[in-house]
Amino acid sequence: MGMFPYICQECGGGDERCCNDECEEVDCEGGQFCWSESAICVIDDIKLDERWMSAEQMEIYQKIYDTYKGKPLMMTYDGGAGMEYRGDEELISMTEEDIKFVVDCEGLDWADSDYGLHVKAWCYDCWGRYADDNGSLAAIVKEEIK
Ligand SMILES: [Zn+2]
Ligand SMILES: [Zn+2]
Repeated sequence: MGMFPYICQECGGGDERCCNDECEEVDCEGGQFCWSESAICVIDDIKLDERWMSAEQMEIYQKIYDTYKGKPLMMTYDGGAGMEYRGDEELISMTEEDIKFVVDCEGLDWADSDYGLHVKAWCYDCWGRYADDNGSLAAIVKEEIK
C-alpha cells in the first residue's frame, strides 16, 4: 500500500502519473509520493448505520451531507496524515486514501469511527478539464474556489 491521499477520477492520481511539481525524478511516471498537493473532492455518498451510530452522530453526518453534497471542495495535502479542506468551516478533514471524510466536532471522538462521507476526488488540474467538459460544474468551481 502506497501513500496516496486520493485516487483521481480522471488520471488515477499520483501512482499512475507524476502530479507533483516538487518531484525531482526525471521523466517521472508516478510513484507513491507523486500526488498533487491540491485536489478537488465532491461528497458522493453517505453511510449511516443506526446499529452503530448514535442519533447525534447520524444527525451531524446528515447535516454535512446535505450541506456539501455535489459541491466541489478544494483540498490541500500538507505532507502529513491527511488532506485538509480549505474553507471557512473546520469540520472536515480527509485522512485516508480510500477517500472518506471524518468529521471533527468538539466533544466527539471520531478516531475509531469507520463511518464517513464518501467522496470522489480529482487532481486540481484534472478537475479543470473535467469541469470544462461539464459546463455547469465549471460555474460552481468558479463560485466555490477562489
Ligand atoms: Zn488526476
Ligand atoms: Zn514524480
